[in-house]
Amino acid sequence: MGLLDKIKPQKPIVRPADLSLDDAGALNIRWDDGKESTFPAKWLRARCPCAECVEEWSGKRVVGDEQVAPDVKPRGMQQVGNYAIRLDWSDGHSTGIYSWDYLLKLRDG
Ligand SMILES: [Zn+2]
Repeated sequence: MGLLDKIKPQKPIVRPADLSLDDAGALNIRWDDGKESTFPAKWLRARCPCAECVEEWSGKRVVGDEQVAPDVKPRGMQQVGNYAIRLDWSDGHSTGIYSWDYLLKLRDG
């Protein structure tokens, strides 16, 4: 493998072509690689990547499936720059920024 192969991006960045919240509060994403994702509201809230939900210094999750209310839903969604969305949750939590990279990781496991 030559130097140029090493500095080239490993794979093209996949981005959402369309994002929407459905009646159940699930986040639906149609990706520009043709795949579609549905992230259930509670599942997504329990995976909030912010510093209140994940301890920054240890990476340990402190707000997860057990701490999140079963009926939590997003009240709104705001785009952040061209790389992420911020979800405003019904439990008053609104600091979670979900980047395309992060959502892609959730999608692909
Ligand atoms: Zn959070």
